[in-house]
Amino acid sequence: MYCTKCGSMFDDRQPCCPFCKAPNPAVQPKTQFHGQIPPPYFYNNVPPYYFDPSVQPPETALVVLSAIIPIAGLIIGLICLGNNEKRAGRAYLIAAAISFGISLILFMIFMLIPLLFVVMIS
Ligand SMILES: [Zn+2]
Repeated sequence: MYCTKCGSMFDDRQPCCPFCKAPNPAVQPKTQFHGQIPPPYFYNNVPPYYFDPSVQPPETALVVLSAIIPIAGLIIGLICLGNNEKRAGRAYLIAAAISFGISLILFMIFMLIPLLFVVMIS
């Protein structure tokens, strides 16, 4: 379809125009967040995956991966400590702690901040 505001062509299933962020009138009726119809300016600032549950946020795989790495590091580290390999065990635990910190930061950026924004404007 063509955007009613800027005239750019984009996918009908997109909740808003990717160029000027004008809401797509064809998608709008089902674009509710927690059963509430968001105010018009909502569409300008929130990524499309908040409207359509079938659209996966691109960061999901990254967040899942970053959660698995520290858990794996923790398990390997504990196994090494159990086998009395203290140096290797400690190194794995430190690596696990660092990657946990990174995944926490990623989680904050990709999940909590947009969610906070949604709570603030509703
Ligand atoms: Zn547009």
